[in-house]
Amino acid sequence: MNLADLKPAMEKAMALNLAEIEKIANNTQPATFENTIEEMERAGKELNRVFTYYGIWSSNVSTPEFRTIQQEMAPKISEFNSKISQNEKLFQRIKVVYDNAQKNPLPADQQRVVELVYKGFEMEGANLSPEQKQRYAAINKELSTLYTKFSNNILADEEKYVVYFTKDQLSGLPESFVKAAAKAAADRGKEGQYAVTNTRSSMDQFLTYSDERALREKVWKNYYSRADNNDENDNKQNIVDILKLRRERVQLMGYDNYAQWRLQDRMAKTPEAAMDLMMAVWPSAIARAKEEVADMQQLANKTSKTKITIEPWDYRYYAEKVRQQKYDLNSDEVKQYLELGNLTQAIFFTAGELFNFNFTPVPEGSVPVFHEDVKVWEVTDKTTGDHIGLWYLDPFARQGKRSGAWATTYRAHTTFDGKKTVLSSNNSNFVKPAPGEPVLVSWDDAETFFHEFGHALHFLASNVKYPTLNSGVRDYTEFQSQLLERWLSTDKVINQFLKHYKTGEPMPKELVAKIEKASTFNQGFATTEFLASA
Ligand SMILES: [Zn+2]
Repeated sequence: MNLADLKPAMEKAMALNLAEIEKIANNTQPATFENTIEEMERAGKELNRVFTYYGIWSSNVSTPEFRTIQQEMAPKISEFNSKISQNEKLFQRIKVVYDNAQKNPLPADQQRVVELVYKGFEMEGANLSPEQKQRYAAINKELSTLYTKFSNNILADEEKYVVYFTKDQLSGLPESFVKAAAKAAADRGKEGQYAVTNTRSSMDQFLTYSDERALREKVWKNYYSRADNNDENDNKQNIVDILKLRRERVQLMGYDNYAQWRLQDRMAKTPEAAMDLMMAVWPSAIARAKEEVADMQQLANKTSKTKITIEPWDYRYYAEKVRQQKYDLNSDEVKQYLELGNLTQAIFFTAGELFNFNFTPVPEGSVPVFHEDVKVWEVTDKTTGDHIGLWYLDPFARQGKRSGAWATTYRAHTTFDGKKTVLSSNNSNFVKPAPGEPVLVSWDDAETFFHEFGHALHFLASNVKYPTLNSGVRDYTEFQSQLLERWLSTDKVINQFLKHYKTGEPMPKELVAKIEKASTFNQGFATTEFLASA
């Protein structure tokens, strides 16, 4: 698909969907599940397809040309959504179906769809007065522009800041990182130098291993100052504007604050419950983080040539040294057993054990992909051989790809108008190795790989009839992925797949024992980091 086709395709698909919605809203027959809810589930096929492309351009292969389109389209998409969520005739029909279903419940899955659709409209202000609705839609439109700016500012700073260094500054860095850094520099026209890009996996590795303290400081500051550099990519004012608008929007509906509105259909239910949960952990996490820093300081006092005080850019570096000292555990040694190809086989094995799924690579070129790095597998039932779907893996960091790891679908399962098989995908930001070199990942990244694959398995294992029921309940969906993480450290996975990338030897028992023993190490930092973000 050409980028030039995207905007006209979106406009056409939105117009088609609005026409479908108008038809449902203006039906003169009394509202029923079939003529209202089911028709809504059916509507928007073309738009869903176009949005898949829009999503890939936005998350995986963003370019300045795309960002121009995105800035234009984000408010248009918001207006489009408001036209549906504020369609009074449509809402009245949904309400009739909902009220009837409260009196005479429908089959369980239909009842659930009705409830989700009705609550969704209610949460999006369907009960507001006409004046309030107008303001609500205006706020959403403004927010859509701000959200786009927000994420594009981060992406722009991830692309803009690259730290280059030279051969005499390689001390401490693992060979695999050095090779990847040489390639990253060459790709940017700096042959013979080395580059740390401004992404989490690059930053994390460099800060863990590099002996060059001044470079560590620079790399740390670049990463943690993304969109905070007082320039055209700065997000500080955007954050203020977003928070103000969110508050105003939910206050229109009588909520005190955004968190109250957001959490009502999440597991915590209320901001108070969420805060209680976090505050139950926070003091211990802070206390532990202080102990960790004290251990690092002690080690630095003994080993550093000059007297230093532990700074944020020393944290990963000295944590690694303390880990080695306390648990005799070297994370670079661990990585030798965590090769991406083997890990991919390990997640397939796990999916086979748990869900009876089989993964077979599709012949190169037989399924279109948006980038040469993307590989595709066919997923079938191990027993019957039935086709379940496809699984795409986009493993490497690149310019224009958002950071982190995530799972998504390009097409979701439904059986509602004929069976649709799943197109699921996982996306990571592993540092792309030099040609012919293995991809060795850290234990944490391997756990994340399992975690995100858990979400893909959720998509693939879906057996619902209606599309609305597909994604399960946020944030409960995290539970199953957290369970899946634990398969990484099972004997079956370790013995078959955690093999040394050179010798093929499985990870030695002693090393596994050390990893287990050290599993609570550095959790003060880890816990404080995610709680602070929350
Ligand atoms: Zn998750």
